[in-house]
Amino acid sequence: MTWLLLLTLLGISLASAFYGASLLIWTVAMAAGIVVLASTGSLPLVSLVVIAAVFAIIAIPLNVKPWRQQLISAPFLKQFRRMLPEISETEQVALDAGTVGWEGELFAGKPDWQLLKKQPYLALTVEEQAFVDGPVEELCQKLNSWEITHIDADLNPETWEFLKRNRFFGMIIPKEYGGLGFSAMAHRAVLQKLSSVCAVTASTVAVPNSLGPGELLLHYGTEEQKNHFLPRLARGEEIPCFGLTGPTAGSDATSIPDHGIVCKQKYKGKEVVGIRLNFDKRYITLAPLATIIGIAFRMYDPDGLLGDKEDLGISLALVPRDTKGMEIGRRHMPLNLPFQNGPVRGKDVFVPLEALIGGIEMAGQGWRMLVECLSVGRAISLPSTSTGGAKMGALATGAYARIRKQFNMPIGRFEGVEAALARIAGNAYATSALSRMTATAVDLGDKPSVPSAIAKYHTTEMARELIRDAMDVHGGKGVIMGPRNYLGRGWQGIPVSITVEGANILTRNLMIFGQGAIRCHPYVLKEMEAARIENVSERVDKFDSLLFSHVGYSIRNAARSLVLGLSFGKFAMVPHDRKTAKYYKKLSRYSASLAFISDITMLTLGGKLKQKEHLSARLGDVLSHLYICSAMLKRYESEGRPVADQAILAWAFHSAIYKIQIALRLVVDNFPNRYMRSLLRFVVFPFGRQEKEPGDRLTHRVAQLLLVPSDTRDRLTNGVFKSDTSTHPVCLMEQALPRVILAEPLERKLLKALKQGEINGITWDEQLKDAVDKSIVSKEEADILLHVRELVAEIIAVDDFDVEELRLGRRPESRIDTQHAA
Ligand SMILES: Cc1cc2nc3c(=O)[nH]c(=O)nc-3n(C[C@H](O)[C@H](O)[C@H](O)COP(=O)(O)OP(=O)(O)OC[C@H]3O[C@@H](n4cnc5c(N)ncnc54)[C@H](O)[C@@H]3O)c2cc1C
Repeated sequence: MTWLLLLTLLGISLASAFYGASLLIWTVAMAAGIVVLASTGSLPLVSLVVIAAVFAIIAIPLNVKPWRQQLISAPFLKQFRRMLPEISETEQVALDAGTVGWEGELFAGKPDWQLLKKQPYLALTVEEQAFVDGPVEELCQKLNSWEITHIDADLNPETWEFLKRNRFFGMIIPKEYGGLGFSAMAHRAVLQKLSSVCAVTASTVAVPNSLGPGELLLHYGTEEQKNHFLPRLARGEEIPCFGLTGPTAGSDATSIPDHGIVCKQKYKGKEVVGIRLNFDKRYITLAPLATIIGIAFRMYDPDGLLGDKEDLGISLALVPRDTKGMEIGRRHMPLNLPFQNGPVRGKDVFVPLEALIGGIEMAGQGWRMLVECLSVGRAISLPSTSTGGAKMGALATGAYARIRKQFNMPIGRFEGVEAALARIAGNAYATSALSRMTATAVDLGDKPSVPSAIAKYHTTEMARELIRDAMDVHGGKGVIMGPRNYLGRGWQGIPVSITVEGANILTRNLMIFGQGAIRCHPYVLKEMEAARIENVSERVDKFDSLLFSHVGYSIRNAARSLVLGLSFGKFAMVPHDRKTAKYYKKLSRYSASLAFISDITMLTLGGKLKQKEHLSARLGDVLSHLYICSAMLKRYESEGRPVADQAILAWAFHSAIYKIQIALRLVVDNFPNRYMRSLLRFVVFPFGRQEKEPGDRLTHRVAQLLLVPSDTRDRLTNGVFKSDTSTHPVCLMEQALPRVILAEPLERKLLKALKQGEINGITWDEQLKDAVDKSIVSKEEADILLHVRELVAEIIAVDDFDVEELRLGRRPESRIDTQHAA
């Protein structure tokens, strides 16, 4: 009976914790449990007294606030203040910069799936769609990636003119200033389509629409600056660039040595107060031809011309290209993707105070301005271009794997190739869903700092994995460069995406969880603020109520993780759908595990967490994959739950869940405190590790979806350039694919006859002729086979050159017509 009582009390505690019952309700439920069992009279008196006494010792101080504060909260607060991480001004700015959206639900352990369902699935306006179908399509028809990357090392003058005339550089500038005033979704659609044809063009368009003078002026510019610059930027009369990075300050951007001294100097004939700038910037996109250069520098006022503060902090100024002292125009060569990129140096460059973005009031606010704008650009540019590249990779590799035959079979039928194809499909599905979800957040008015870091890191990493698989499947065809190669430049250039806008190792190890843990946590930030309150009793009071809500929250998450782990998610509240309910249950379970581990990690490590990058990266992986899975489910539901897409969703989902399990396992196995390690193992993996990678049958089904035209394949690759009037090599493959498939039974018939000795001939042409003569295939069938053979020969062809033609920068006398090779 004693054991029964103990088990009942444990059950009551677990149920109260699981449903997040308040301390009072738990106390009443426990007391009621003890009374009911005592009233049966079957319990030994000693046991009853001991259990009741233990319960009273725990419950009474917890429920009497003054005792609780004195015995628990105040001593803990002392310890907490000692553990509190030092938050630098830079970090504080980063923490204050963003808003919290769906990732907050995932982080807090009990996601409300109805909120995700209610999120709109945004579409383009008629005008935006017309732009994508009009000028963007026209541009894609004209672009010749090989000439841009190999021969001209730049867009040709007509393309520059086309971009300016059609206001590609003013997509984010509102219409009142002459821009296109596009939504984030439209911005995404344009970049996605361009990047599917030419990465250099996509980067050229992305930069002025991302973090740089345009966006900074929109948010912080003075009226005068906006009225002057924005219309000129929208029309492409000014080409902007923005210089933050320098030789010694890369990831550690706030360490820039570039400086500006407030001083008086003659400017346009008059003596004015201004800033004398000295700087050395590198890797600056569009710098070689920019007309207006945004510069980040540390501003000093040693002579007190502006006030009594000498070090004013990081500030941003706009410097015209022709200003005396500017050294600009030389180019870097980023991995054979020759978009305009180069150094900018300035020696004693004098600008008036009006050159400060936002005017003198914004002096010293530069870092805040950059960080506040960063999340918006980061949520769109690289996720959209990665999505375009990923979708094009999926389209091309699927077609090629069906068209290319070895051992008399399409290579896409071999299991080894299937594995690569399934990964390609899964990555393309996930990348697109993720970039769509973060762009949606921007359109809804969020500043998604954590999702934009997730999107930047994971879309570029998925694109990197995808292009690697695509290259493997293409074999030599992917390796030999030339106009017929549609993969090689993507393969070469992917490290650029990995490096820019927050290099990926740093983003994964420091930013995703580092920001997520503090920003998304419902209590930590508030507790940190409470711990800094000056007045002692107010501090203890505030801290006490936060602490006890926090403890309740932690216990709830532990109980949820354990119960959902033991019950395979049975008690999670999820949308009722036969196909997807199990997915939501898994996400609910791992969301609770993440919330609990995060709390234990912060409790155990405090400020030292910053140095524990392995832990932080792995917890960031869990948050990221929960977010990616949510985005995929949102996509699947919003596209009308297409039955034919279920296999891809299942593959991508199980693969992500498996990665969550790996990350959690590594966190638990390497947790620095061994007692906590055992607790975590029990709470997170009560039945051990049960998630599995997608099985072979599922892999086979997904791979086959890429090999044949279908609605699923169209949905997977929608939004990329697929014109059936273009001679782009991938478009040609798309046109050939149905004919190749149609000819396959005929090829098999011919092969069978050959094997059975029914037809003779040394060459294929002779064999075909004999087959027609013996009525094994009809004349029409023979024509189909011949036509397909020609198409295939063109598709599998690679380029060769005279050695002179290979000399970079020199236009060859006669080139093969790249766009009309077929
Ligand atoms: C093609 C290109 C275009 C660019 N365009 C611009 C532009 O227009 N304007 C501009 O201002 N800048 C631009 N950049 C700069 C870009 O933002 C920087 O390259 C980036 O910030 C990284 O700096 P870094 O290259 O010096 O690498 P480093 O800072 O030297 O980093 C090297 C490696 O160390 C890792 N690392 C660094 N610190 C940590 C840490 N604490 N924890 C874990 N890992 C860490 C990084 O992730 C990276 O993998 C561009 C760069 C390139 C290559």
